[in-house]
Amino acid sequence: EAMTAVSGTRDDVLAVLDRLGVDRAVLAGGDIVARSPIDGGEAGRVTTLSAADVDALVRKAHAAQLAWRVVPAPRRGELVRLLGEELRAVRTDLGLLVTLEAGKILSEGLGEVQEMIDICDFAVGLSRQLYGLTIATERPGHRLMETWHPLGVCGVISAFNFPVAVWSWNAALALVCGNSVIWKPSEKTPLTAIAVQAAFERAAAKFGSAPDGLSILAQGHADVGQALVDHPLVPLVSATGSTRMGRAVAPRLAARFARAILELGGNNAAIVAPSADLELAVRGIAFAAMGTAGQRCTTLRRLIVHEAVADRLLDRLAAAYRSVKVGDPREAGTLVGPLIDKASYDGMVKALAAAKAAGGTVIGGDRVDVGSGDAYYVRPALVVMPDQAGPMLEETFAPILYVVRYRDLDQAIALQNGVPQGLASSIFTTDMREAETFMSPAGSDCGIANVNLGPSGAEIGGAFGGEKETGGGREAGSDSWKAYMRRATNTINYSRSLPLAQGVQFDI
Ligand code: NAD
Repeated sequence: EAMTAVSGTRDDVLAVLDRLGVDRAVLAGGDIVARSPIDGGEAGRVTTLSAADVDALVRKAHAAQLAWRVVPAPRRGELVRLLGEELRAVRTDLGLLVTLEAGKILSEGLGEVQEMIDICDFAVGLSRQLYGLTIATERPGHRLMETWHPLGVCGVISAFNFPVAVWSWNAALALVCGNSVIWKPSEKTPLTAIAVQAAFERAAAKFGSAPDGLSILAQGHADVGQALVDHPLVPLVSATGSTRMGRAVAPRLAARFARAILELGGNNAAIVAPSADLELAVRGIAFAAMGTAGQRCTTLRRLIVHEAVADRLLDRLAAAYRSVKVGDPREAGTLVGPLIDKASYDGMVKALAAAKAAGGTVIGGDRVDVGSGDAYYVRPALVVMPDQAGPMLEETFAPILYVVRYRDLDQAIALQNGVPQGLASSIFTTDMREAETFMSPAGSDCGIANVNLGPSGAEIGGAFGGEKETGGGREAGSDSWKAYMRRATNTINYSRSLPLAQGVQFDI
């Protein structure tokens, strides 16, 4: 495909860092390469921490939390309100930095910052709604209730593909819940993390009385994440990334009885039923499968199509796959930007070869030349499979959509549930019985089950997360905040006698 050479990310990165109030000196050197997947160019290097540094930072965050936990929650909400204001002020530039560092198209970069603003708004409201219950007691002259208290230092480990939103989902809730936060961002996206930390610090300065160390950035590789996971002063770690990472982290947290919020890999499906609105389905599938170049945890990776509509749907999808604009995500009209790096591209090549070996027919999937050998762009791949097997059972973090046909809904639901992951799912149908069955206890086994839209692109109001190898964690909306607090059950006796529960007698 003809295309002008993609370049110039280094200058763009430096200019946007200036506008975001980040000192260019952060790029002076270190073990982390700050690179843009747009042209593969290096903007500079960022310093990593050692495990010993992490200990000192956790102690600082712990001291901050001891002061913060007794600040009234609505007052804590004021800090998060100010953070939301700072994010509004830098929305365009921070969104652009997400584009530059993670390779998302501009509207998705902006959308990610919007998501941060949304969760701040949610958390501000929540700061006045950290409700406990008053419960009917069986004992006369008693009151039974529960209260929610701050937990401590919350560790956040995040992935490259949502370099800023994941921190905010955790931090906005953790802060109003009376906790401090220590963040280990992906080593592939160090600069967006620095820009977010700068925004937090401006909000804290305006707030005036935030304890020092309430939100700390800990840059580094997996060893820094592991130091957080193992630290006795970190009672909760929220870790977003691959199932491989979750398998390393979960047993270590369990060994010291710390809490884990695990947001791991997905292998998300959509069922297209005979009654589906096919035009709508094509649009929903296109965004969910090709958006973010297939690098969302909720990306649509498996399409389960009824045999009566499969040919018609596949014709339309193939046309969309052939025509979608792949290229520089800074350019208007581009819908598919780059893969994050060479390893990601190699993974895609390997999966497509395995799909062919398993009898799959591949449309697309070729590398697109953008005039920079260090950047990895691909045409999204549509792979028609004889059955659900081989690479279709795994998450390959690239734009590959596998397609299988089905005959009846039970079979389709069994296919949907027949993978180790359990994040997001959807059905396209106008048949009410099918839609309800899909969302019923006998339907999708995922944390997210949608009707007439794709599996990706959640809003913050709902609890976000998935089952099975996705890790079981929930964050963002609904009552996800409860994971960031500890619950105390209180019984108060305001009588002059001492009745025991269950009628037990113990007279001395
Ligand atoms: P990754 O697992 O390579 O890295 C994620 C983070 O974990 C990074 O910060 C990394 O440094 C850290 N890490 C890795 N090993 C660790 C260890 N042993 N101890 C502590 N920390 C460790 O993932 P990635 O390539 O950055 O992101 C892509 C993956 O993330 C995909 O599998 C995707 O599905 C998943 N993801 C899931 C969600 C979700 O909400 N379920 C959201 C976004 C991404």
